Amino acid sequence: MGELGAKPSGDIKLSMPVQFLKGVGPARAEIFAKLGVVTVGDLLEYFPRDWVFAPEPKKIGQLEIGETAAIVGLVESTDFKNYHRPAIFEAMVSDETGICRIIWFNGGYLRDQLRPGQAVMAWGKVGEYKHQLQLTNPKFRVMEKEASKPAEYFSGGVYPASGGLSSMQIKKIIRPVLDNIGGLVGEFYEDEFLKKMELIKRKDAFGWIHLPADEGKLGKAKRRLKFDELFLMQLGLALRRHRHSEFASAVAMKSSEEIDRRIRKRFPFLLTEDQDKTIAEIVADMQRAIPMNRLLQGDVGSGKTVVALYATLLAVANKTQVAIMAPTEILANQHFISIERYLRNSDVKRVMITGGLTGKDRNEILKDIKAGGIDIVVGTVALLEKDIEFKKLGLVVIDEQHKFGVHQRAELRKAGTPHCLVMTATPIPRTLAMTVFGDLDVSIIKHSPPGRGAVVTRWVSPDDRAKAYEFIRERLRAGKQAYFVYPRITGIEEEGDIKAATDGWRELSKVFGEFKVELLHGRLSSEKKKEVMAEFRRGKIKALVATVVIEVGVDIPNATIMVIEGADRFGLAQLHQLRGRIGRGTDKSFCFLFADKETENEVAKSRLEMMERSNDGFEIAEHDLKLRGPGELFSTRQHGLPDLKIANIIDDYDLLVMARRCAFELVTQDALLTGPTHKNIRQALITKFGDSLGLADVA
Ligand code: ADP
Ligand code: MG
Repeated sequence: MGELGAKPSGDIKLSMPVQFLKGVGPARAEIFAKLGVVTVGDLLEYFPRDWVFAPEPKKIGQLEIGETAAIVGLVESTDFKNYHRPAIFEAMVSDETGICRIIWFNGGYLRDQLRPGQAVMAWGKVGEYKHQLQLTNPKFRVMEKEASKPAEYFSGGVYPASGGLSSMQIKKIIRPVLDNIGGLVGEFYEDEFLKKMELIKRKDAFGWIHLPADEGKLGKAKRRLKFDELFLMQLGLALRRHRHSEFASAVAMKSSEEIDRRIRKRFPFLLTEDQDKTIAEIVADMQRAIPMNRLLQGDVGSGKTVVALYATLLAVANKTQVAIMAPTEILANQHFISIERYLRNSDVKRVMITGGLTGKDRNEILKDIKAGGIDIVVGTVALLEKDIEFKKLGLVVIDEQHKFGVHQRAELRKAGTPHCLVMTATPIPRTLAMTVFGDLDVSIIKHSPPGRGAVVTRWVSPDDRAKAYEFIRERLRAGKQAYFVYPRITGIEEEGDIKAATDGWRELSKVFGEFKVELLHGRLSSEKKKEVMAEFRRGKIKALVATVVIEVGVDIPNATIMVIEGADRFGLAQLHQLRGRIGRGTDKSFCFLFADKETENEVAKSRLEMMERSNDGFEIAEHDLKLRGPGELFSTRQHGLPDLKIANIIDDYDLLVMARRCAFELVTQDALLTGPTHKNIRQALITKFGDSLGLADVA
């Protein structure tokens, strides 16, 4: 950048407040602060949101048909031709040498952006229409002030501007920083590595992202900066994991054929290949004194509980205690019940602790836990309460950890860093497994136990409703049962949702007059709810019309049909969860998604098509993440990771994989990053993560 001729200001440093840059004073520094820019380093990472590569503007009178050119002029008039197909937005733009017609197809959105009297620059291919010069769908920029501006004004980065600080001003302010870029930005990697990875130098990347000569250079700059950002994130995760592995404080569990045989005897079935594989991974972890830190993923019904119970019994066989934590009392209770089922007649001591447990009972139990008289304690976050002390906690099993958040995970750690197994039924897309859960080891159960019937899913338009009903009638006659689910419009079950389900129930009672059809929703008394569920379980009720209250915990193999009304109103994850209620027996099941196929809602359409196409929870979760964008699920801050400013974990997945591999490799070589070539990486990491990685105190 030196050749650009600005005076070198050698005293600029990355840590210097932007306030001391030329053109910034206290007032502008305040505006910058609102944009998250405090230091020169922050400013370098305040990337343009767009880039413009326009040719030098020409006078309208000199335009030639067929060339690509830019013009600058005043908007004389505008017109939106809505009757035209496609609709056209037209602007007449003039300079002192002529007038040019500009049209944008489907340009209705421009009505708010372009008005007569404004100065604009537009560039694209010059054409002709009815003997008049015309630009069709050109790129354009409204100019901040009407004037002739230097060419630089029209090309390069466009910064997200903010109250009182224009993109152009930011451009001017950053210029001297860019002129000194070589001295400011240190390289992370050796030339050889850069070559192998096809990455440009870090200083060039910063220079070019702000001031690219052409699109090719811009692309290279983006790639390098994305890589670095992902690399630093992965390095943070790798270091976190490495530090965790230095706690050699967990009990190294012993396993043997005898123990394995005794545990397996508890299960009335052979374990699946996936269960065996995950158990092997878990046992290998637990045999080490390094605390296990493993995430176990698998769809509902894939057999996670059995795997977790294996780990639990291994810990108990090693004379240690196990805490099993679920996010809600209902789920804790379900775990307890299923554990009871497997451990009938066993002398393993187990209790459940809930928030409701008080007084003498509670004291008795706590005493027993402290004395080591209890082997397995099941509960909710109530297990974290300070007065609960274990004699020797060997393993913590956490169900659905992402509903707890890292904070609580850390709190459990304080209980002596036992082995930790986290279970989740919500498939975590591979991108998130590598990022927000990236410091955990991951085991996946892909295939559910055998003997499950296939689930066929169909999106049904209102026109075909009657046909679907006839199909369902056949099945009900054959002794099968059906769910009819109505959407929850708002987060909580509302009056309107109940009304929709109630109306639906009346209607369906007529349609299926020959069968018993019942209604279930959250406002029924708990006796009534229990009664309805019991009758449905016994097969007396053939069709159950419900709000989404049935989402969790219902397991009725004979119910092989599900109709989801207003399916376009559900999220993808929820549709998949709901569908998980069928396909639990050996028979083929059918899921009908009722929604208008003529919908304009592309996202809803994409969701329903995905449901028809796939039964794979991971694939669905991945797709969901794409539709929603990473922002919604991927709150980096919440997970103690720095914000991503340029990379996107979905679009840049390949770079993410590369960066992860490099980062984890580096930590095996130089975990403290004290090597002379790692100095710059270390400094950048400290800037991003603060001292949370324990790096700052190493000289
Ligand atoms: P998850 O916890 O993943 O939802 P569970 O461990 O509760 O799954 O298992 C779901 C159902 O499948 C349970 O009824 C369980 O008894 C049964 N099951 C688990 N593993 C097997 C297996 N290997 N073979 C047959 N049935 C199994
Ligand atoms: Mg389960």
